[in-house]
Amino acid sequence: MSFSALGLCDELLKVVAEQGYTVASPIQIEAIPAVLSQRDVVAVAQTGTGKTAGFTLPVLQLLSGGLSAKPQSVRALIITPTRELAAQVAKSVENYSRLVNIRSGAVFGGVRIEPQISQLEDGLDVLVATPGRLIDLYNQQAINFAQLEILVLDEADRMLDLGFVNDIHHIQTLLPAKRQSLLFSATFSKDIKSLARGMLNNPLMIEVAVPNSTIDTVKQKIYSVDKARKNDLLIHLIKTQNWRQALVFSRTKQGADSLVMQLEKAGISAASIHANRTQHARTHALDGFKNGRVKILVATDIASRGIDVNQLPCVVNFDFPYVPEDYVHRIGRTGRAGNSGLAISLFSEDEAKQLQSIERLIGRKFEREIIPAFAPTHKAPITKVANNKKLVNMLDDDEYGNFEADPQPNSREKPQGRAKRASNASNHKRRK
Ligand code: AMP
Repeated sequence: MSFSALGLCDELLKVVAEQGYTVASPIQIEAIPAVLSQRDVVAVAQTGTGKTAGFTLPVLQLLSGGLSAKPQSVRALIITPTRELAAQVAKSVENYSRLVNIRSGAVFGGVRIEPQISQLEDGLDVLVATPGRLIDLYNQQAINFAQLEILVLDEADRMLDLGFVNDIHHIQTLLPAKRQSLLFSATFSKDIKSLARGMLNNPLMIEVAVPNSTIDTVKQKIYSVDKARKNDLLIHLIKTQNWRQALVFSRTKQGADSLVMQLEKAGISAASIHANRTQHARTHALDGFKNGRVKILVATDIASRGIDVNQLPCVVNFDFPYVPEDYVHRIGRTGRAGNSGLAISLFSEDEAKQLQSIERLIGRKFEREIIPAFAPTHKAPITKVANNKKLVNMLDDDEYGNFEADPQPNSREKPQGRAKRASNASNHKRRK
C-alpha cells in the first residue's frame, strides 16, 4: 500500500518519498491511521519493521496542526530504553519533520545535562528521552509537561527488562491524564499487558507479526566450537566469508573489550560498545561502524535494539544471551526492511541451556554445524545455575544494572536508587 492512502499530509508524503520508501510496511499501514485518529494504541511489532516511522509520521502530523511548544514545555514525549535508540529515534524525527514546522530534540544520560537544559528553554514539540535523564531534568525544573499531548513508549518490553518500570510509573504521574498514549513493544508479555492497562485508555491493539518469532529474512546458523577457540573461529569466519561488516554480541563488557583486542591483533578493524564506555566512545564506535571505518562492532546487549545500520549483512552471537528474547532482538539487527541477513551463533557446550530456551521461544530446533579445523574436542560440563546468588553474580558481570543510568554529576538520584533499579533488573530476569 502506498503512503498516500494512509491520510498523511503532502509535506510528510514528500519526505517519505525522499527517504526512498515506496510502499508502507505492515506496521505503518496499521499504525498511521490509528494514531491519526487520536486513539491510544498498543502495537506489537518486531524490530526492523519500520515502526519508528509508523508512530513518528502521524505524531508529526497531529502536532503540526497545533500551537507550538511554550518555554520548557514538550508536546510529544517519546521514551526509549537506551541512549543509542534515543539518538536514533531523534534523528528519524528530525529527518521526517524537515518540511513541517516542528522543533525536536533528545535527552539522555552519559553526557552533560547543561546543554540539554538550554535546549529545553524555548520548549520542544517532540522530545525523545531515556527515563533516568528525563526525571533528572524534571527534578531540576528544566521541563514541564503541562502542554503534553502525546506519549510514546518505544520498546516497552526492553524498558521493563532493564528495570525502568518504576521510572515509567513515576513519569506517568507527572503527565496530564488527558493525552494520547502509544506503546510499542517487540513482545507482548503479561507485564506489558499490565503496563498498557495502567497507562493507556481503551487502546487499539495492533499486531503485525507473531511475537517472539525471528524474522524470516534472516538465515540462522549455529557452529559448535570449544569455548577457548571462539576467538579463532570468529577470526577465521571474518577472513574467509567476506562479510562486509558484522555486529558481534558479547555477553560481558570485559569479553567485548578483549575480543576487540584479539581482532585488532589479527588485522581486523574493530570497536566495542557497552555501558562501561563513555557516551563519547560509544557514539564514536557506532559512527565508525555506520560509516564503514570499523568492520566489526562488538556489543553487549546494550546495542541489541538501538542499532539500525543500513543493510547490515551479518550478526554474530559470540556468546548466547541469558535472556532468550535477546536472541530475537540481536538477530533483528540484520535482515531489516526486507533485506536478507545472516545470524551466526558460536555455541560451546556450557551454553546448552541457553540454546534450549531460545529453541523453545522461537519454536524451532537448530542443527549444530562444525567447521572441521574448529571441531570441539571435549564436552565441557554444563554450568548449572544452582541458585539465585550465582545468577546475580553472572548478571553483575554483564550489562544489566549499568545501563542508561551511568552516574551523572547532576543526577539527584541517590546511589541507593540506582542500586535498586539494578536489582529490579536482576529480579525481573530471575522471574523469567
Ligand atoms: P525501524 O523498525 O523503525 O527501526 O526501521 C527499520 C528500517 O526500515 C529503517 O532503516 C527505516 O529507515 C527503514 N524503513 C522504514 N519504513 C520503511 C518503508 N516503508 N520502506 C522501506 N524502508 C523503510
